[in-house]
Amino acid sequence: MSHQITVMVHTPAHSGIGGALTYESDTAHTPGTLVRVPLGSRELLGVVWDEAAPLPESAEPTAAPMQLRAIASVLAGLTPLSAHWRQLVQFAAHYYQRSPGEVALAALPSQLRDLSTEQWARRLKRKPKAVAAFEGTTQAMPTPTDEQAQVLADIAAHKGPFLLFGNTGSGKTEVYLRAAQAELERNPQAQILVMVPEINLTPQLEERFRARFAPKWGADCLVAMHSSLTPAQRLKNWLAAHNGEARIVLGTRMAVFSSMPHLQLIVVDEEHDPSYKQQEGARYSARDLAIYRGQLEGAKVILGSATPSLESWHHSRPATAAEPAGRYMRLAMPSRVGQGALPLVRRVDMNRQPYKTVFSNHLLDAMRERVTRGEQILVLLNRRGYAPVLNCNDCGWKSECPHCSAYRVFHKLDRTLRCHHCGFTQPVPRACPSCGNLDISPLGRGTEQLEEHLAELLAEVCRPDGEPIRITRIDADSTRLKGELERQLAEVHAGAVDVLVGTQMIAKGHDFRRVTLVAALNTDGALFSSDFRAPERLFSLLMQAAGRAGRDANMHLVSPCEMWVQSHHPMHPLFEALKQHDYPAFAEQQLKEREQATLPPFSFQALVRAEARSQEAAQSFLNAARDAGAALADELLVDLYPAVPMTIQRVANIERAQMLIECTSRKALQHFLVHWQADLHLLRSAHRQVIRWAVDVDPLAI
Ligand code: ADP
Ligand code: ZN
Ligand code: ZN
Repeated sequence: MSHQITVMVHTPAHSGIGGALTYESDTAHTPGTLVRVPLGSRELLGVVWDEAAPLPESAEPTAAPMQLRAIASVLAGLTPLSAHWRQLVQFAAHYYQRSPGEVALAALPSQLRDLSTEQWARRLKRKPKAVAAFEGTTQAMPTPTDEQAQVLADIAAHKGPFLLFGNTGSGKTEVYLRAAQAELERNPQAQILVMVPEINLTPQLEERFRARFAPKWGADCLVAMHSSLTPAQRLKNWLAAHNGEARIVLGTRMAVFSSMPHLQLIVVDEEHDPSYKQQEGARYSARDLAIYRGQLEGAKVILGSATPSLESWHHSRPATAAEPAGRYMRLAMPSRVGQGALPLVRRVDMNRQPYKTVFSNHLLDAMRERVTRGEQILVLLNRRGYAPVLNCNDCGWKSECPHCSAYRVFHKLDRTLRCHHCGFTQPVPRACPSCGNLDISPLGRGTEQLEEHLAELLAEVCRPDGEPIRITRIDADSTRLKGELERQLAEVHAGAVDVLVGTQMIAKGHDFRRVTLVAALNTDGALFSSDFRAPERLFSLLMQAAGRAGRDANMHLVSPCEMWVQSHHPMHPLFEALKQHDYPAFAEQQLKEREQATLPPFSFQALVRAEARSQEAAQSFLNAARDAGAALADELLVDLYPAVPMTIQRVANIERAQMLIECTSRKALQHFLVHWQADLHLLRSAHRQVIRWAVDVDPLAI
């Protein structure tokens, strides 16, 4: 008997095939089975999708509209992917407007695709190594604080999803560990998914999980899942999770698609972090998919943050007289473990400082005092390189990138001008390329320059042991080499560094023990940005940065920890809320503004972006799409805005435009997008100049 089998393969997003192909097979295959199928002259990896009905024996061969090709082979020895997994993929594809084949295949390790049948057979035969004995030190489990105990009791007693609103240093990680342990003890098969924004920023976390669980559940109970694994490691870890051997998967956003047959708990740490949103291909939000997946599989979901996204904060609102409570259960841990105090926030009014002041004298004095006492300092400046632009003082020439609508950044270490958008790099010119003037100089300031400047300012200052102080810089440039970030962080932890200068990379999650002063420079840009999410991001960055100070309650301090903010708008409500460490006040004020402007979470958005050789071509495609969708949009009360150039309009000589779509109903927006997609595909073939287009549902940057 012959069967028709539907197989999902990864076809190019806009091929129009949509990823589902039909093949013929002598045997029925369970949905979820991985197979190899011919397509044209190639052979592709595919996933058997739904159950296609067997062809009746008597069916006339001529009745088939076209000759179906046969499945080439089956990846033997692999349990089929579960119905839940397929449904998660199907949902993500539908919601984010991509093909299920693309989403499914992107979620599978590349080696499944790349290994030949023989290589795969050999790979399967490889005996798993005997489980290694755990060799680290077994640490005593701390007794939960009252707040932790209360939160854990709530998690045990309710279904969730939970928003764990816990201050920096309130012991959220300990809650994740305990909640995970409870699941592992309750169910001998239970699996737990722990997601973090960027795994290399939190090497400590993996160690904490391993130290807690390896003694009882074996050194192999935890696997990592992120993009810096080698293909072989990724396959190994993926198989361990898929076979149920790995009990804990710790990973970045891609881990939300891990095949975990016995998933019981999902933790999304730092749930507000923008890196949970995928920025290419299927632009999914791993946080939002985690909520969906939890519901689908009956797994509990904990979103944790000291500064939740305003979406999650809104979803966890308590009931009022007028309105029922949100869908999430909010759990609060306001206190720091060990009564460690949050830093005192000090604002410096830069309007009252001499022109071009980098560090106000008060701040400098405070820094000098602290390093002399052996305390550590963190200086946050969210701009890497030496200076954002090089400028000719004579003719006004600036270091523009010839390929982008952006300036190239001056990097002094290797004396280059580098475009941070397209990567175009050139040596710094000796003289102005436009007028020949020798007097070209940096404008503005990046971390490289700050590090240099601080070294001069603190040149006379010594550590308690009489040695000169050490300054180090952590940003995307200083950590380009593999292992470099870990090495630099280890130095900070070991106390070999006195002043740490860096971008947002130094603000996130680190459990620095000796930092007592944090200074944030040049933050004002975000106060008046055209992106309505900029204040939310700034507030959370500053709260996170503040949270790096005073983490060791046992440190005997001469004066309390401090967070310094230099600003031209020190009385801005954002800084007022920061001073009080009052996230709820900040959130309330922001949500009020968003409600008045009907912005998310009070409305739902999507963006269509188009890229072409000319801005006109990109916009004309979008505006044609707008016309095509106008009637349906009207009917569904969906707003279609005119096409506009993107903020950085040109990158690598490609012009970029976007169009905003907005609606107060998520359902109506989804409905619109699904029906409109066909128009976009059709229009694309008429607009040949368009190089790429894509829909971004729930975009994070407008
Ligand atoms: P968060 O993730 O909320 O920033 P952590 O979980 O990193 O906080 O906890 C901060 C510090 O407090 C860590 O060093 C941790 O080991 C410690 N800690 C957490 N819970 C307890 C507890 N119940 N008793 C003692 N120390 C704890
Ligand atoms: Zn010039
Ligand atoms: Zn460029």
